[in-house]
Amino acid sequence: MYSIDLTGKTALITGVSNKRSIAWAIAQILHQAGARLAFTYRRERVKAKIEGLASELSGSLFLECDVQNDEQLKAVFTEIDSKFGRLDCLVHSVAFAPPAELGGLFVNTSRDGFKTALDISAYSLIPMAKHALPLMDKAGGGSLIGISYIAAERAVPAYNVMGTAKAALEQIIRQLAFELGPMNIRVNGISAGPIETVSARGVPGFTDFFSMYEQRAPLKRNVTQEEVAKSALYLLSDLGSGVTGEIIFVDSGFHIVGY
Ligand code: NAD
Repeated sequence: MYSIDLTGKTALITGVSNKRSIAWAIAQILHQAGARLAFTYRRERVKAKIEGLASELSGSLFLECDVQNDEQLKAVFTEIDSKFGRLDCLVHSVAFAPPAELGGLFVNTSRDGFKTALDISAYSLIPMAKHALPLMDKAGGGSLIGISYIAAERAVPAYNVMGTAKAALEQIIRQLAFELGPMNIRVNGISAGPIETVSARGVPGFTDFFSMYEQRAPLKRNVTQEEVAKSALYLLSDLGSGVTGEIIFVDSGFHIVGY
């Protein structure tokens, strides 16, 4: 038997906004495995909500961080260093594109919309990795994950510039994995099937994808946040010790189907 014990380890969770967030399911499973958690929230007004959600996860840290704000990003890691003294796991579960960029014609993508989507949803992993590096070094290594979607490699209606951002995110994952591997820091991605969250609802027609997965995916159903979290636990813990630069599909097998 191989048990997963993250006692004494610390994890930074970004992207929890409510109980449906994929990051919240990951936080819960890491907590159950014994990890101490730090959460970031985008705006002060959602702080109380996240604190309420995470009230049973004693000892957690809550830090404001809009990933477009370099000072806030840096301060998150300074705070984790002073409170925990190390970082073992990092979950990047943040994405955004201006609503006008989703659902219409991709040829109408604006320069500003492109910049915003790529900045928040892809670039942000780079400074996170940079600031995490010394803290993971102190811990003797670490593991980072990002959450992607099949639109990184296939054309998906309405997803538009978010697909571009996911393609960038997956490349960033590989490039970071290459660079940080010698420091025993692993970087991987999970490509999740559609799950009902605030972000998913922002893509017009996204809910139609649910029935498509039920019909076409080998498992004939959609995946849950908890299933994404289980694969996250594998990648973030010693169970995934030999895996880096990988994108794992947690999508009921939808991506292998050719019709
Ligand atoms: P969600 O809306 O719960 O999470 C997205 C998070 O991004 C929110 O917490 C939001 O506050 C945060 N965010 C947006 N802009 C930010 C900024 N500037 N600074 C800091 N945080 C910011 O939705 P989710 O579905 O849990 O999304 C998590 C990740 O999973 C995203 O990367 C998303 O693209 C990805 N994903 C989702 C699905 C799905 O169907 N839900 C499928 C594949 C991948």
